Amino acid sequence: MNSSAYNVTRHTPFEVFNPSTGELIGHAPNMANEELNAAVESAKSAFVSWSSLSDEELQKNCLAATQAIQDHSEELAKLVTLEQGKPLNGLGSRWEIGGAIAWADYTSKLSLPAKTLQDNQDGKVELYRKPLGVVGSITPWNFPVMIAIWHIMPALRTGNTVVIKPSPSTPLSTIRLIEIMQEALPVGVVNVVTGDDKTFNLGAAMSAHPDIRKIVFTGSCATGQKVMQSAATTMKRLTLELGGNDAGIVLPDVDPSAIAEGLFWGAFINNGQTCAAMKRLYVHESVYNSVCESLVEFAKNIPVGDGMDEASILGPIQNKAQFDKVSQLVSEAKERGKVLLGGEPGEGLFFPPTIIADLQNGDSLVDEEQFGPALPIIKYSNIDDAIRSANDSPNGLGGSVWSSDIDMAKKVAARMECGSVWINKHGAIQPNAPFGGVKSSGFGVEFSEEGLMEYTDIQVIFS
Ligand code: NAD
Repeated sequence: MNSSAYNVTRHTPFEVFNPSTGELIGHAPNMANEELNAAVESAKSAFVSWSSLSDEELQKNCLAATQAIQDHSEELAKLVTLEQGKPLNGLGSRWEIGGAIAWADYTSKLSLPAKTLQDNQDGKVELYRKPLGVVGSITPWNFPVMIAIWHIMPALRTGNTVVIKPSPSTPLSTIRLIEIMQEALPVGVVNVVTGDDKTFNLGAAMSAHPDIRKIVFTGSCATGQKVMQSAATTMKRLTLELGGNDAGIVLPDVDPSAIAEGLFWGAFINNGQTCAAMKRLYVHESVYNSVCESLVEFAKNIPVGDGMDEASILGPIQNKAQFDKVSQLVSEAKERGKVLLGGEPGEGLFFPPTIIADLQNGDSLVDEEQFGPALPIIKYSNIDDAIRSANDSPNGLGGSVWSSDIDMAKKVAARMECGSVWINKHGAIQPNAPFGGVKSSGFGVEFSEEGLMEYTDIQVIFS
């Protein structure tokens, strides 16, 4: 079913705003159960022929969809900037669309061939990977196109069909992405539903839907728990990519000016609205002042402005609720620590890069996922204490260690309770490396063959 079919809806379409200017930029259909059922039915019908395509045909179709995205990359980047706020340049929307295309291309070329486990006089044992059926994808507002691709492509590549539901804050780029993909794919293979989460909660309905076999969810821990509860009744497969409160640990042997740029982008990529951004920084007392100074020196020159302005490198916070949360956490942190940069809200939804030193575990900006442009810095004198403090969090998505001694850094990395650890950088991801969280940051991984497997059931045939 084409998404345009959903323009006819009983509910008033909801408004979508540009976070840089506050201007109304469009409307999205406000769907409910009836439209969700139609989309699931469309995906279910398409599954019959899609799942029976050969591996080569699946790959060919996925590559055609990838090419279609590539052909519309600038249009998609502009739409992401308009509704999400991130600049076209820097690590902004053109980077996001480029990443989405790279992931789509890589994932299209992966394969999970059948394996022969035994073939002898006792008989043959073969392992097959089978698609699940209809996959429901629920995405957040921080990377609306890239995360959509992370969900959709492995599902399609393994023979599943998809119904995707974007965040009500950023529905337009996902709607357009799906329209573009639909032109390259058989009818019903990918479908999009949108809603405002107020009239009707589509995500909750998807998690409980009897004809959806798996939910891949990226979002907050609180919503992830709800998804897990509703999914239990129909025994759905789940991949949950949830919140993070990543720590960075700076060892005494660093060159502060050499790591300043990496520290900055580790924390402030997408204005800190990134699941695996560095959200707390522990710095050894011997380099504490010089690391703080170098970081501030780098950060104070970053141009912040309207995302459509080619000169902007950081944009606004995406929505008012998130802006209020960041403002509240920063105002609490100002009572407890020392503001080195920023600290005061700007116009509209703009909030300057903010760095607050001399904080501790127990301070709200350290303990909570701020998901915004505010980095707390904590001084430590003993590495065991730093690791203990870094691990003292319900989350376990990513972490980083900064040192000129890679072997020493790897020893610290091994003691960190998280799915990815980076050395002398933070947040790097690539399509051939599995990515996922531990503890309350969720379970299951995305990317690579390991990520692909999550969209399949195993069947073993003994003959
Ligand atoms: P959110 O949990 O509020 O919303 C995510 C999605 O869930 C939205 O599409 C929303 O409409 C939908 N939803 C709302 N109620 C639901 C329900 N009851 N059942 C099912 N779905 C429901 O998250 P957000 O504010 O959009 O995104 C920010 C959060 O996402 C942060 O915590 C961030 O760390 C996390 N995140 C994690 C990753 C990762 O890979 N681990 C990546 C990006 C963002």
